[in-house]
Amino acid sequence: MSFNEFRKDYLLDRWVVIATERGRRPTDFAKQERQQSKAGVCPLCPGNEHMTPPAVLVYLQSGKRMKKDKDTNDHRHKNWLIRVIPNLYPAFSPPKDKISKKQIVKTENLFLAVGHHEVLVESPAHDDHPANTSIPQLVHVLNAYVDRLRELSKKPYVQYVSIFRNHGLEAGASLSHAHSQIITTPRVPGIVKEEVAASKKFWKQNRKCVFCDIIEKERNGPRFILENPKFVVFAPYASINPMEFWIFPKKHEPSLLEMSPSEVKPLAETMKTCFRSLKTLVNDPPYNFGFHLAINKEAAAYYHWHLEVYPRLAIWAGFEKSTGAYINTITPETAAESLRTDVNKSQ
Ligand SMILES: [Zn+2]
Ligand SMILES: [Zn+2]
Ligand SMILES: [Zn+2]
Repeated sequence: MSFNEFRKDYLLDRWVVIATERGRRPTDFAKQERQQSKAGVCPLCPGNEHMTPPAVLVYLQSGKRMKKDKDTNDHRHKNWLIRVIPNLYPAFSPPKDKISKKQIVKTENLFLAVGHHEVLVESPAHDDHPANTSIPQLVHVLNAYVDRLRELSKKPYVQYVSIFRNHGLEAGASLSHAHSQIITTPRVPGIVKEEVAASKKFWKQNRKCVFCDIIEKERNGPRFILENPKFVVFAPYASINPMEFWIFPKKHEPSLLEMSPSEVKPLAETMKTCFRSLKTLVNDPPYNFGFHLAINKEAAAYYHWHLEVYPRLAIWAGFEKSTGAYINTITPETAAESLRTDVNKSQ
């Protein structure tokens, strides 16, 4: 008698049943109907700048050079390449005046939701997407992530900066215009906190970065997807989502702030290649992605930033919701094989 495997994440105490026995193929998911968001006036399209709060950052083309600026209350820049605006309905909002830690931390289990919640408009073109945009435009997006991360991580009440993207209605993108979001939190959220703690423990015992170790193992294994001089992509051993993949810089860096200028274009190329393959293989699936990074100096030795991509192909129901354990019907080895083959075809 043979069994499925019950696998544990590299660092988290998170378990997933990998359906090695009657596993499915990526093509099984390609025929699903995708929900479309309702058409209407798009507040993120050029010409509708007045429908949003003033931008905190805009990238403007000025001749051959790129200029950075912001909007003021009565002036909204036009002809932008990138636009970052405060979310109209923020989950976390900035303090009006100086605020102390004591004012934010009410009790052990009550913090005020102090922080920032921003929408980063990735392109003037409504339907742009990491899979089909131009590399220069994707480079602007990544540079804008770094600009906001730099500015926001300096604020004393910011303990974490989450940079993420929702694609498709089923993945929570209520606006279909190409955009990412940035949320800062007054404490480090659970998954990242656990990763940081586990990597710290590993570093104390082994004097090396656990992520550098994982990269070294995965780049020679069955879950390997892509490698170039700067980045490695693989499907994680205990993927909880079908077709999940993670992108890591090969150089040890705790956050995007330490990324050198020579890595930005390769990251854009790596992302474009992977997202194009995902789109081709499973019919433009809804997905979420999020960067994991550490902004506190202490974690610099042992934390290693990465981008985690979660395609939304399974419905998490009673078992997942009530236990925090998962069932994944596409093995990461199968996912990696398909992605690897497609990535090679397009290169
Ligand atoms: Zn639009
Ligand atoms: Zn590392
Ligand atoms: Zn992570």
